[in-house]
Amino acid sequence: MKNSVGLLWFLFSFFTLSGQSENPPNFVVIFCDDLGYGDLGTFGNPIIKTPHLDQLAHEGQKWTQFYVADPVCTPSRAALLTGRYPIRSGMTSSKRVVLFPDSSRGLPHEEITIAEVLKDKGYATAAVGKWHLGHLPQYLPQAQGFDYYYGIPYSNDMNSSNWGQYRKQADDPHYFSKTEYFDVPLIENTTEIERPADQTTITKRYTERAVDFIEKNKEKPFFLYLAHSLPHIPLFVSDAFKGRSKAGLYTDVIEEIDWSVGKLIEALKKNKLDQNTIVVFTSDNGPWLLFKTHGGSAGPLRAGKGTTFEGGQRVPTIFWGPGRVKPGTINDLGSTLDLLSTFAALSGAQTPDDRKMDGYDLSKVLTNKEESPRKEFFYWAFGELHGYRTSQYKVHIKQREPVNYGRPTIVLEKPQLYELRSDISEKYDVADRFPAVVSEMLERMDDHLKDVEDSRPEQLSHVIKDFK
Ligand code: MG
Repeated sequence: MKNSVGLLWFLFSFFTLSGQSENPPNFVVIFCDDLGYGDLGTFGNPIIKTPHLDQLAHEGQKWTQFYVADPVCTPSRAALLTGRYPIRSGMTSSKRVVLFPDSSRGLPHEEITIAEVLKDKGYATAAVGKWHLGHLPQYLPQAQGFDYYYGIPYSNDMNSSNWGQYRKQADDPHYFSKTEYFDVPLIENTTEIERPADQTTITKRYTERAVDFIEKNKEKPFFLYLAHSLPHIPLFVSDAFKGRSKAGLYTDVIEEIDWSVGKLIEALKKNKLDQNTIVVFTSDNGPWLLFKTHGGSAGPLRAGKGTTFEGGQRVPTIFWGPGRVKPGTINDLGSTLDLLSTFAALSGAQTPDDRKMDGYDLSKVLTNKEESPRKEFFYWAFGELHGYRTSQYKVHIKQREPVNYGRPTIVLEKPQLYELRSDISEKYDVADRFPAVVSEMLERMDDHLKDVEDSRPEQLSHVIKDFK
């Protein structure tokens, strides 16, 4: 009897401990820049061919109501990596919108990123692609928990005298600019290795580095953050993709990104990691409609990048992981804010408990298709709260029109209410029909503003003002 109890205890300990030590999943986040809700085959695009992404959506989960925390680059990235609205970290600005090459700051070191959370559990971590959370060496990814970095430190259109010209050409879908017009550095760890970065091969080279990182770390858990610098303008593709789609440069660019996704999946399968890896594919904000044929499509959604309409913040999102993720279409709410808590839950890592967090743990939705714990979403832009969603309702108190990008925010004379289930395009303001819903939602917004005010570190207020 004593022996059999001992044997049971041994077996129990063996399976429990080996289960914990063998199983922390790898995480790959593929984060596009300015890719619209309507730009993938699986999200309804009739022209752009994205067979690899369509396959991932088929085998994994396609999230139709997944949001980024801000409709522009810098704050959206800060939110994904920290699980906090950027107003809390100071990574949002009413004047300059994003960080620029003359900015002297970046994501505050006190912020805790997904890379830092997973590093505590022994993960290898790499950031490949666009960073945009501070370009000075002390703000690059290695200061935020990443072992390795390869990419451009800010947007691919910065340091350019050609921006205005590019904008004039943007109604020509085949217009191809010159990479030397955009004096953007390519950085490895903290060293500048190429300037200007040859953007024609950038998607290809990011992919090679990402595959290399997977190969080198196949024996231990890893977190790969692959933030493509495209399809943000200026658009570039490698020779193999130039003109391939016969549907314009934007389509060529997306098809090269889809090729890149295929290469990553191939590497995971080759190294027998596909059963224990979760791949997330999404975008940092909606399409940059100002750039006409060089900007993407938000599909049925209203407006695009720089606005808090759905087209600015609802992004095409896929979770794939054949050993972990239960396939299906998820119509519940989710956000890039939730990735930190979700990855922490799946890996046994610790979500920070010394600060306000804005994420929810989506792991049970992924593994078991349970209901999403996220029931609401706050639409922030340029350091201001514009709107709020709960259930099918969305209320707006402030707005920006896409053509007004860079112009002041419009404070609405009276709140607008949209019922997104029957009106995905935010066409019909039904505030007059549901006054009680509106006032309840406005109260919730007030509570949220108070909560943010209480938690915002005062010393960051100058960052919020101008991003200098
Ligand atoms: Mg962007």
